[in-house]
Amino acid sequence: MNQPIQPGEGAPSDNGRAPTCAVEGAVGAPVPLDGIRGAITGRANLAKHVWFKTGGPADWLFEPADLDDLVLFMERVDRSLPVMALGLGSNLIIRDGGVPGVVVRLGKAFADVALEGETQLVCGAGASGILVASSARDAGIAGLEFLRGIPGTVGGFVRMNGGAYGREVADILVDCQLLMADGDLIRVPAADLRYTYRHSALEDGAIVVSARFRGEPGDPAEIGAEMDRIAQAREASQPLRTKTGGSTFKNPEGHKAWELVDQAGFRGHRHGGAQVSEKHTNFLINTGNATSAELEELGEMIRDKVFAETGVCLEWEIQRVGRPEGAKR
Ligand SMILES: Cc1cc2nc3c(=O)[nH]c(=O)nc-3n(C[C@H](O)[C@H](O)[C@H](O)COP(=O)(O)OP(=O)(O)OC[C@H]3O[C@@H](n4cnc5c(N)ncnc54)[C@H](O)[C@@H]3O)c2cc1C
Repeated sequence: MNQPIQPGEGAPSDNGRAPTCAVEGAVGAPVPLDGIRGAITGRANLAKHVWFKTGGPADWLFEPADLDDLVLFMERVDRSLPVMALGLGSNLIIRDGGVPGVVVRLGKAFADVALEGETQLVCGAGASGILVASSARDAGIAGLEFLRGIPGTVGGFVRMNGGAYGREVADILVDCQLLMADGDLIRVPAADLRYTYRHSALEDGAIVVSARFRGEPGDPAEIGAEMDRIAQAREASQPLRTKTGGSTFKNPEGHKAWELVDQAGFRGHRHGGAQVSEKHTNFLINTGNATSAELEELGEMIRDKVFAETGVCLEWEIQRVGRPEGAKR
């Protein structure tokens, strides 16, 4: 009765609509459902949860009610299923064939930010950059202003070592709480994440549930002014009001990715519904009806040409997950 069932089994094929499994009595869920309070959805639309607005469904989407609910879910979930956390999808291409296994999306229950001592904030992994930066300003904590301009969540920042304007998460993270794939809840000091540029050693399947950030005493008015400056600089230089995914490529040692893309002649270049931004050439855009395949192909075309012309190998910063359209489940 309580046996986990493989994804897809029992998921009705009613015109492709994603069925939301009620907590009670649902069939085909990846865990025994009794006691689970969050929402489990089979064949869940992920495109609406990511900035690019493209990509296929998750076999399963789990939106936990709170941390206890998430722990219970992870203790019970079929271990053969891959588990992936999703923040605001601001650095993601979800491939058109969708994501196998379970995608865990942390919502409002994980978005609290609390002051600890004079200069530390304990932040839920679902808290946004703007919320963390504003909370730091209100508490007179300087050094976290850069998070104002990064449109993701604490979970995404910790995994990606998010950064801007000369600072990055590695500079402010004290430690974080992780829920591991086996259901263990552990606290990990920042050093263990072995941060490098836009990269951490966080294991696949580990979910960041909270993080502790440290700043230094500062004047709220000055912190606020710096946040405003950051917001204006972003507005002027990035295609913020488009379907995009942030910086496409990491800056290679000694180069700026946008310059290499520009010099290779890709400013404004279109491939199907995908386009290189006119405003910032390290941003790809979904002009309306792009597929994830078109976005990824455009990225690969750029990588090939830049390598052929300069010998520099651009490395994707955007995370690309899931299976291509037509791939076997
Ligand atoms: C307009 C724009 C501007 C941007 N500017 C910047 C910038 O200046 N600097 C910068 O660093 N980035 C920038 N980005 C990229 C993006 O905002 C960051 O990479 C951010 O850290 C992603 O956060 P997210 O919560 O949206 O993660 P997602 O995009 O949802 O996921 C990214 C990765 O993090 C993982 N992840 C998400 N949540 C968790 C969690 N709770 N636990 C474990 N893993 C998790 C996902 O599995 C995935 O591998 C920009 C993006 C946009 C659209």
